[in-house]
Amino acid sequence: MKAIIPVLVLLLAACTTTPTGRSQLMFISDGELNQLGVNSFDQLKSSGKLVRDSRRLGYARCIVDALVRELPSEWRGIAWEVQLFEDPTANAFALPGGKVGVNTGMLALAADQNQLAAVLGHEIGHVVFRHSGERVSQDLAARTGLSVAGAITQSRASPETARAVSALLGAGAQVGVLLPFSRKHESEADVYGQELMARAGFDPAAAVALWQAMQRNAGARPIEWLSTHPDPENRIRRLSERVAELTVVQRQARAAGRVPDCR
Ligand SMILES: [Zn+2]
Repeated sequence: MKAIIPVLVLLLAACTTTPTGRSQLMFISDGELNQLGVNSFDQLKSSGKLVRDSRRLGYARCIVDALVRELPSEWRGIAWEVQLFEDPTANAFALPGGKVGVNTGMLALAADQNQLAAVLGHEIGHVVFRHSGERVSQDLAARTGLSVAGAITQSRASPETARAVSALLGAGAQVGVLLPFSRKHESEADVYGQELMARAGFDPAAAVALWQAMQRNAGARPIEWLSTHPDPENRIRRLSERVAELTVVQRQARAAGRVPDCR
């Protein structure tokens, strides 16, 4: 009985709204969520897989910068950071607090700046929609034993808690825990990411090409990103349906001088 009272108190102050107006269960503040993202990213960076290659890093940063410039001001203002990880699986992630990770396997799979922008636009979409905060909140509501307070100060958290938090935030494949976002979250990130890339001047058709490439590759070897992002056939169809409309958006962006040239 005792445990129920704090949950009720949290419920009273526990709602936010996505950019599309959907209201979300939220037991965690942006400040706390960002701190969790920064802590998880620090751990991943100390995992020994960090790639210090200024050419490839510059390429990924150029794309993230172009996308971030088109975000609402509250998201544009945070200190976005991009890092590469030596890992052959085609995976990328973006954590709250603006921490973006790209595996070398994803660099190898995405054929050009437009395809990588499709991946990164999708991942940034998860951050802007606070999906990981929603997931942490749902997890808390289900009382699966994860303490946010303990997790925020990860210096005191157990390795298991730290891994659980990283997985909830969306860096699951990096820590060996696959935790898919829900269909609703995936679909929101797809729609937002494709719009974002078009507004930044990237080719929205590349989102379709990227997913087709992911699917082709999945036959040859398991791709973490694919297995954590369900339903590729539907996704490709929905992304295709919006290409014509978003190509107009891309053309307007390029006419306004937003012509990304990342390589
Ligand atoms: Zn996703």
